[in-house]
Amino acid sequence: MEEKTILVIEDNEMNMKLMRAVLQVGQYRMLEAFDAETGLRLVKEQRPDLVLMDIQLPSMDGLSATRIIKADPELCDIPVFALSGFAMESDKEKANDVGFAGYIVKPISVKALLETLADHFGSSPAKNP
Ligand code: MN
Repeated sequence: MEEKTILVIEDNEMNMKLMRAVLQVGQYRMLEAFDAETGLRLVKEQRPDLVLMDIQLPSMDGLSATRIIKADPELCDIPVFALSGFAMESDKEKANDVGFAGYIVKPISVKALLETLADHFGSSPAKNP
């Protein structure tokens, strides 16, 4: 299977570290951005296969950044999954309008994340070593 590139936009160092470990297990190539501005630049330059987007980011938030991706005809086909600790229905509704391909609820479950990615890419999750 061809290697998939996943861009993680996440400002929390611990979460980023966890994502690094999880994506390594899943044998994905990972790009990292700690803010939305850097993330948007990487989306344009690298065209990742998928974006994991934290909602709460330092300056521009994940909802605004995703709206920008979805409004760009050259980028709008790239699936963006929300990384969010929000469980509120109102937040989910707001996020629905933005056009996320799915949600990853924080705290991140390693198994659930790998299953979500494998489902999306239509492959079985990497076996544990
Ligand atoms: Mn955050």
